[in-house]
Amino acid sequence: MSSQKGNVTRTRPQRHQNAFSFKNDKFDTSIQTKRINAKLHDGVCQRCKEVLEWRVKYSKYKPLSKPKKCIKCLQKTVKDSYHTICRPCACELEVCAKCGKKEEIVIPISNKLEKIDNVKSDEISNCKRRKKFEEQTSDELDFDIDLNESEDEEQDNHMQM
Ligand SMILES: [Zn+2]
Ligand SMILES: [Zn+2]
Repeated sequence: MSSQKGNVTRTRPQRHQNAFSFKNDKFDTSIQTKRINAKLHDGVCQRCKEVLEWRVKYSKYKPLSKPKKCIKCLQKTVKDSYHTICRPCACELEVCAKCGKKEEIVIPISNKLEKIDNVKSDEISNCKRRKKFEEQTSDELDFDIDLNESEDEEQDNHMQM
């Protein structure tokens, strides 16, 4: 075992410091970065969540400057970057808000922490109610950050109907 390469504990400093952990807030300590780092990727499946977390980690996550069009209800209701489906639709259809597939959602959109499981019909009606509510309070997620909206991101979001 001890003769195995790469399996030894180093006692001297590494010559090439290539093993540092990447931290995107090392130099950029702006509120925006902090906010993105703290973002909860809810309403998406495990795969999409990992993609979003990867983007955040490597500073490739660009917040939306204005809501994007939802591929389900065709309203400009998508407030999360890289999502293709708005929260009410994803919640109602029980699909991932990013890839649109019927995958298991890691962090459900429902922000009601009490009574998470059962009563599906109840949950759906909650969704509908919240849909109305969200329309009224559309500035709830204040992505007022002055970043260019990256339209090229549309490309990796397969438009599924
Ligand atoms: Zn929608
Ligand atoms: Zn997904």
